[in-house]
Amino acid sequence: MNDQTLPFLPFALPEIGEEEINEVVDTLRSGWVTTGPKARKFEQAFAEFLGEPQTECIAVNSATAGLHLALEALGIGPGDEVITTTHTFTATAEVVRYLGADVVLVDIDPATLNIDPKLVEAAITPRTRAIVPVHYAGLAVDMLAILDIARRHGLRVVEDAAHALPTTLERELIGNMGSDATVFSFYANKTMTTGEGGMLVTRNAELAKRARVMRLHGMNRDAFDRFTAKVPSWYYEIVAPGFKYNLTDIAAALGLHQLKRLNGFQARREQIAQAYNEAFADLSLILPPQPPEGDVHSWHLYVLRLDDTLEMDRDVFIEQMFARGIGCSVHYIPLHLHPYWRDRYGLRPEQFPHSQKAYERMVSIPLYTAMSDAQVQRVIDAVRGIVLG
Ligand SMILES: *Cc1c(COP(=O)(O)O)cnc(C)c1O
Repeated sequence: MNDQTLPFLPFALPEIGEEEINEVVDTLRSGWVTTGPKARKFEQAFAEFLGEPQTECIAVNSATAGLHLALEALGIGPGDEVITTTHTFTATAEVVRYLGADVVLVDIDPATLNIDPKLVEAAITPRTRAIVPVHYAGLAVDMLAILDIARRHGLRVVEDAAHALPTTLERELIGNMGSDATVFSFYANKTMTTGEGGMLVTRNAELAKRARVMRLHGMNRDAFDRFTAKVPSWYYEIVAPGFKYNLTDIAAALGLHQLKRLNGFQARREQIAQAYNEAFADLSLILPPQPPEGDVHSWHLYVLRLDDTLEMDRDVFIEQMFARGIGCSVHYIPLHLHPYWRDRYGLRPEQFPHSQKAYERMVSIPLYTAMSDAQVQRVIDAVRGIVLG
C-alpha cells in the first residue's frame, strides 16, 4: 500500500468555481459589499428554487442566526420548553437558551438517526411551545408525524434544515413542509456554501417581518432600502433591540452560483453515496438509511456504523483511516454528553440509548463533489482494507 505517498484527503472541501469567483470580484468592484442587491437577488433565487408562492426567504449570516430569529419571532422565551434531538450540533439547541427558554432533548429512531416522533409526543409538557426537528445527514424527518403532533398540541415547528438542501419528503422539498419556519446553512462544509451564511424560509408574513427587523439591529429599514429608495432617506427607527445577522453581498455572490449548481452537486453526492453503498454491502457495517422510494437525500453526510459483529473500536477505525491519509469525522457527539447540556439538565446516557449506541459506533467518511472517482475509490479501498483486516 503506497497511500503514504498520496496527499491527505480532507473530510470535506467546498467546490468553488470561476462563476463564484467572478461574482465576488464583481461585488468587490461594485462598491456595495454589505447586504444589498446581491443578497436580495439571492433571496429571490432561493424562493424560486423552492418554487412555492408566498415563500419568504431571509438571508442571514448563519443557520444559527436563522434558528435564533425564527424562535424569537415566534415569541419563545423564559418558562418555555423546546423539544429537539440530542443527536445534533449544539447550534440547534443553543438558540433556545439565548432566548432564556429550556431545551428538552429526546432520543433518535435508530433506523433513521432522526428524532423519534413518539418520543417527542411523550416529552410534551404544559410548558412546551415548539419542536425543532433536524433532517440528520440530509434524510428527511417524518414531518407528517411531527406536524400532526404540533397541530394536536398547539406547538410551533422550526426545522433545522442545515443538512437538507436539497432533500424531499413525499416529493416535496424541505422548506415547503408547512412548518412555521425552515432554516438552511451555507457553512463551508454544507451542500452549498457562502463561506458562512444561512437562509430562513417561512410562509408566515408576520414571522418574516419580525425576523427581517431583528436581523439588522431592530431597524425598520435597512441601509440598502434607505439609500436606494426613490426618495433617499437617512431616517430609520429602532423598534427592538435586534441582532447583527445580515448576509453580506460578498457571501450572497457565492450563493447565487452555488444555488445554480445545487442539483448538479446533489447528483454527484448521490453517485458517490451509491458507490459506497455497493462497495460496503458485504461488510460488517450498518450503512446509512436510504430515502423513501422516489425521494431525494441530500447526502450531506455519509455515516457508517460499525456492526457489533466487527470487533473494532470506532476510534481505532478512524485512526486507521487517518493512517491511510483520509480524514473522517463523527456526527455528532450527542448533546447529552457535552458538559453544558449534561450538567444543566442532569442528563445520563441511559436516557438516550439509541443516540448513545449510534455515537459509539459511527464514523462519517468523506463525501463531497470535489472528490475525484480515484479519491472515492481510495476511500472504498481504505474502508474495505480496515474492516476486512
Ligand atoms: C451546520 C449546522 C448548524 C449551524 O449552521 P451555521 O450556518 O454554521 O450556523 C445547525 N444545525 C446543524 C444540524 C448543523 O449541521
